[in-house]
Amino acid sequence: RNERLAEFGTTIFAEMSALAVATGSINLGQGFPDTDGPASLLRAAADAILTGKGNQYPPGPGIPELRQAVAGHRQRHYGLSYDPDTEVLITAGATEAIAAALLGLLNPGDEVIALEPYYDSYAACIAMAGARRVPVTLHPPAFALDVDTLRAAVTPRTRILLINSPHNPTGAVLTRAELTAVATVAIEHDLVVITDEVYEHLVYDVAEHIPLATLPGMRDRTVSISSAGKTFSVTGWKIGWALAAPPLLAAVRSAKQFLTYVNGGPFQYAVADALDTLGPDFYTGLRASHQARRDLLATGLTEAGFRVYVPRGTYFITADVSHLGVDGLTFCRDLPSRCGVVAIPSAVFYDNKAAGESLVRFAFCKQTPVLRDATARLASLR
Ligand code: PMP
Ligand code: GLN
Repeated sequence: RNERLAEFGTTIFAEMSALAVATGSINLGQGFPDTDGPASLLRAAADAILTGKGNQYPPGPGIPELRQAVAGHRQRHYGLSYDPDTEVLITAGATEAIAAALLGLLNPGDEVIALEPYYDSYAACIAMAGARRVPVTLHPPAFALDVDTLRAAVTPRTRILLINSPHNPTGAVLTRAELTAVATVAIEHDLVVITDEVYEHLVYDVAEHIPLATLPGMRDRTVSISSAGKTFSVTGWKIGWALAAPPLLAAVRSAKQFLTYVNGGPFQYAVADALDTLGPDFYTGLRASHQARRDLLATGLTEAGFRVYVPRGTYFITADVSHLGVDGLTFCRDLPSRCGVVAIPSAVFYDNKAAGESLVRFAFCKQTPVLRDATARLASLR
């Protein structure tokens, strides 16, 4: 490995999913649903392939139908207008959108402030861009954003704030007050904000997803990123997107064109169709079914003796394992052999390891019987 990637080994998701397969464990580690998305969506992808739509290179920015559908979705759900031709880019999942935004906007030596714990590709992409990450740690129980800590993290080298809400792995959803603080800091220091909103439709109880770009003064300094993987339960398709004002989007596009150039032709047609045709009932159903599964796993973990931080969004639950007298890494390493379950040690998402030492992450995007089986197994640890 070169110097930039020296500190990054194999991603935890590959490692833990391989362990789940090898040990025949229930995989509550890597976040992917165990049921595929809506039948109409799956059929649309098959039809696209069989009728010759997208089997050859699609246009660089993505097919016009999907760019229009992404802009339409943004307008309908949040009242934000984007020009499909100059302000929308289709990417290989949100992962590529994040990579292209960082690679396209950063200069070597720039600093990126990111909310810690963070999704593991952030640190690696910041490193690939030759930039430096500056974590702002979210602490339990609420994993709320401390505005003074955010302010204190800004230096003359800060170029980007990288925000993720709903937040993986903690399940925190930034409130309007927290977003306003982010906006104030960004405007005051003339920073670009990248917002990772892949869990935009997975918010529970009274929580509301508020895109940062809806706040005054933010639309034109924000790169907003989302993905079909989470919303439509097709994580293997890797269709994501970025929305931003033309100068910012052009920078993201310039990096994307040399990363993958284009991706997922037939899937782009299917996702366009789903964005255009699935109505409010779909989104309400998605939320309700995940909320029920969240409650099931949260209750099961609590009954099994874990301290649980009930998430307001995403499909992850963070729990504390200190009652078992071990740290999260040891717990997750031993869990498959002890009871046939795989979880992710949250410490891997932290620079400040001590802050996440006793925490583990469980995914609940699984069928109810699977979650029941998993909680019964975890209860046997007591
Ligand atoms: N950001 C976050 C916070 C995620 O949890 C994920 C999940 N994989 C991604 C980005 C990547 O999304 P995609 O699979 O669309 O690349
Ligand atoms: N987003 C999912 C998670 O956080 C999957 C990530 C991945 O496989 N790269 O678990």
